[in-house]
Amino acid sequence: MKFDLNKKHRKKVFERVMEKLECFYNNTQNFSITPSIDVQEIKEFVNNQDLKSGGNYNAAIDHVTTGLEKYSVHTSHPKYFGLFNPRSNYAGIISDLISAYYNPQLAAWSHAPFAAEVEAKVVKEFAIKFGYSQLDSDGVFATGGNEANQTAVLCALNNKYPNYACDGLFGVTKRPIIFCSEEAHHSVHKAAKTAGLGYECVISIPVDDKLKLETKLLEKEIQAVIAAGHDPLMVVGTAGTTGAGTIDDLVRIGEISKMYNIWFHVDAAYGGGAILSTKLKKKIKGIELSNSITFDAHKWMSIPMGASIFLTSNPHILTQTFSISTEYMPKDADGLEIVDPFSHSIQWSRRFVGLKVYLSLLFYGWDGYDQVISNQSVMGDLLRQKLINNGWSIMNNSALPVVCFMDEKYSSDINFTKVILERVYQKSQSWISVYPIKNVNTFRACISNYNTTEDDLDKLVCELNLERKYYSDE
Ligand SMILES: *Cc1c(COP(=O)(O)O)cnc(C)c1O
Repeated sequence: MKFDLNKKHRKKVFERVMEKLECFYNNTQNFSITPSIDVQEIKEFVNNQDLKSGGNYNAAIDHVTTGLEKYSVHTSHPKYFGLFNPRSNYAGIISDLISAYYNPQLAAWSHAPFAAEVEAKVVKEFAIKFGYSQLDSDGVFATGGNEANQTAVLCALNNKYPNYACDGLFGVTKRPIIFCSEEAHHSVHKAAKTAGLGYECVISIPVDDKLKLETKLLEKEIQAVIAAGHDPLMVVGTAGTTGAGTIDDLVRIGEISKMYNIWFHVDAAYGGGAILSTKLKKKIKGIELSNSITFDAHKWMSIPMGASIFLTSNPHILTQTFSISTEYMPKDADGLEIVDPFSHSIQWSRRFVGLKVYLSLLFYGWDGYDQVISNQSVMGDLLRQKLINNGWSIMNNSALPVVCFMDEKYSSDINFTKVILERVYQKSQSWISVYPIKNVNTFRACISNYNTTEDDLDKLVCELNLERKYYSDE
């Protein structure tokens, strides 16, 4: 049994894979976006395979590519107006292949010095972009925003309680409290849960008319928490909420956090992409005041999943939180101006995630990103305009291309969005979601694909107009 296959077989397998993949990548717009889901059928499709003896390469490749084509929501489609899931850019795709071939081990610097230095360089570039200082900043690649937010909670704990690394919560006498807005991502709650704090330590602050965290209420809650004998640990400001693309008042939250000496984390998993656009970067002003940032490259940078960056303006906290000394890890890094990634991260053995971002920058440059992100923002503005021209109302107030809209005639009709969405999914020409704003269900469309054109927007609006007419005629 040869795991390598031989050269001839490899070539054949590769050609067959590439043929399939290129057919999908070139013609994504011709695929049906939403699969019809028959759970039994999908389970059988997976379970009917013989895993005993292997050997049939072609059949295996056809099986997995067919499965992915038939039974996935095609987030790469130009009319997928979805949940920050991008189409993968080509540099990112190739990077995943390259990483798999060389399979560098990024746990220790000395095993993969080039890879480790690439990640260090990319992390530093982003730290500076977000307004941190060159010297007093640090960071690490993570699998996703969830891991990055969890990293933030662990850093905040280690920052607040110097003995936390040793004693854990047994050395903590007051209950640590985390503040975020009602619109924040629930990975914050999950981080609290997995850090041993319990998700009830998360206080969700109400939002204002623009769905931004009410900073006056934040201050009141902080005072109330202190008065009750608890310990304010961390405030999370969101730059680009998952629901409505709202950016909290980061400047004010930064001031309040500083005043009360609380760790200020910005969850910019999606909205952090604004920093790459000359036009949008001012919208996330205040992010530079933070102690840490979550930024998902696998969202607005169109990098294949999963690639997130955790950044911090505290150059020591990652080491304090994660380093551990072992007998079996290579010691070459000791005393050198380098960092062993395993001492900075929840992970140990690590994939070369940073390559996807680095190669994308080598391929497209910051300039390329500026253009693409600005263009997606223009598409968002166009979509708003087209919807308004067709009698829809915009229900959110986002500086980013996240558009929540409704026909206000139907605001109190709970069936309206439900019936229309069911039909949109069934027809499978486009994909949008529903998001409740102030108790009214609205349609939500995000320009998450760099290939989405004005023509795609026209088709979406046209489809929704027709569905609205169908609904009113019923
Ligand atoms: C997507 C998202 C997350 C979670 O990130 P993953 O990469 O899915 O783990 C966290 N916060 C916000 C604001 C997000 O949009």
